[in-house]
Amino acid sequence: MFLVYVERQAGLKSPCFLIWCVLMLILGCSSERMVSQDKKGFPQTEAASREGSPMVESGKIKDMSDEEWQTCLTPEQFYVTRRRGTEPPFTGRFYNHKAEGTYVCVCCRSKLFSSETKYESGTGWPSFWMPFDRDSVELREDRSHGMVRTEVVCAVCGAHLGHVFDDGPPPTGKRYCINSLALDFEERKPETK
Ligand SMILES: [Zn+2]
Repeated sequence: MFLVYVERQAGLKSPCFLIWCVLMLILGCSSERMVSQDKKGFPQTEAASREGSPMVESGKIKDMSDEEWQTCLTPEQFYVTRRRGTEPPFTGRFYNHKAEGTYVCVCCRSKLFSSETKYESGTGWPSFWMPFDRDSVELREDRSHGMVRTEVVCAVCGAHLGHVFDDGPPPTGKRYCINSLALDFEERKPETK
């Protein structure tokens, strides 16, 4: 319909106008494509996916608006990380994930947990007994839903990740109960000789 309308308006005298319209349509669509898909089909945040992203380095990533986050996260990822949501147990892509590597923040790609500290808690959420390093996450008191819990957030971008409990295994006794939707995974490449 649009092209017919354009043709009527422009007539056949100005085919350049028609080409210009088509070009603008293509450019308009591509500029909104903030979300890319990796080879497994999971979305990655393009703005923050590069090492040394200016948004991360300048600290501005903590000031990103909900509208900006919505352009680079799926609705489910946005709900968990920016609305402090919780995914249903036994539904996430990582609760039963056993590959070796590093779990990173789905929002800013910071390293959050190592597969070496992941364990089977039986809760239906990915569980770790320690963060990647001491500064990877921040802990906040959470008094929502009539409970007193300790919320775990990404230290770089403030994304809600999950909660930490005191019923974990040795050596820390902690259980970092994390939503799969807040994580992405970087597999450890086999060492080459
Ligand atoms: Zn983050």
